[in-house]
Amino acid sequence: MTRPFNFSAGPATLPEEVLQQAASEMLDWHGSGMGVMEMSHRGKEFISIAQQAEADLRDVLAIPAHFKVLFMQGGAIAQNAILPLNLSRGGRTDYVITGSWSQKSAKEARKFCDVHVAATNEADTHTQLPAYDSWQLSDDAAYVHVCSNETIHGVEMHELPDLAALGSKAPLVIDCSSHIASRPIDWSRVAMAYAGAQKNIGPAGLTLVIIREDLLGHALPICPTIFDYKIQADNDSMYNTPPTYGIYMAGLVFQWIKQQREGALTGLAAIEARNIAKAQLFYDYVDASGFYTNKVGANCRSRMNIPFFLPGDALNEPFLSGAKEAGLLQLKGHKSVGGMRASIYNAMPLAGVQALVGYMKDFAQRHG
Ligand code: PMP
Repeated sequence: MTRPFNFSAGPATLPEEVLQQAASEMLDWHGSGMGVMEMSHRGKEFISIAQQAEADLRDVLAIPAHFKVLFMQGGAIAQNAILPLNLSRGGRTDYVITGSWSQKSAKEARKFCDVHVAATNEADTHTQLPAYDSWQLSDDAAYVHVCSNETIHGVEMHELPDLAALGSKAPLVIDCSSHIASRPIDWSRVAMAYAGAQKNIGPAGLTLVIIREDLLGHALPICPTIFDYKIQADNDSMYNTPPTYGIYMAGLVFQWIKQQREGALTGLAAIEARNIAKAQLFYDYVDASGFYTNKVGANCRSRMNIPFFLPGDALNEPFLSGAKEAGLLQLKGHKSVGGMRASIYNAMPLAGVQALVGYMKDFAQRHG
């Protein structure tokens, strides 16, 4: 069966091989007589699944030994509260606003700490990345928060800021929900990364937190026990029942990433090269089309989420219904931005982007 190409922003398309493997193991995981959903999280079978998933994630993202990997729940939205509860010490924090998701993070953090907005691109409707050397960083911030890929506005930090070079001693925290595992992370610049799983990693319900060990153990007294990063770390993310099936699926995706090849490149390097090629193909076509537009600054266009517009809103419905007929699903833009959005995560093959561009060319010819 050939499946349509699915451009959803999340929950999003997953590698077909992974779905097939999960299906084949659904009733009986490795001869255990149990499906993964039916296993005790404290049994040796599931513990081996969780340990392998963590080891593979560490391998894929080259996570240094002095970082802990936590498998949490509540999505990235919950982290908007959990982060200040753990790291702010109730004091000052710096937030950089680059789109809807970082805006939401800052708003939630205000419940727990003093939020200083160090930079914002609101004036240009979240289409540009405020130059790093323009950020007004505080002397005493407990951390600096950024969203390194804005899923709705399609703004990506292609290189993470070097806070030390910008004169800040604060640890950098990144919400990398929508581009985690699409490229390497420079851990010399990042103290904590978090991500909901439902884009590049697996099913919704699992949230990854990767945190430098020295940041653990400073939660505010009101922090719920289950949200205390140190308690999670001390209990190998099993203080309570973790999202077991999500961890299993994530583990299969990490193995899939490790198996990828692109010319001489392997693993995450292969994935990144493919993502660059996919995004370039798409942006090059949009820019040359004279029909479609993308308004994001050239230096910060997301490789994962590409909002684009047709020449008039009246064309949106015909575009979407024709796309569906052509086997190209979930292209409708976010309501706050309008137009269309193509999310081309790791699991979207180059052939999917080629098919979309082919459809767009044909549509432009018929309506141009
Ligand atoms: N941050 C970013 C960058 C996102 O893309 C999303 C979800 N689209 C969220 C936060 C919220 O994630 P969740 O719904 O898993 O809480």
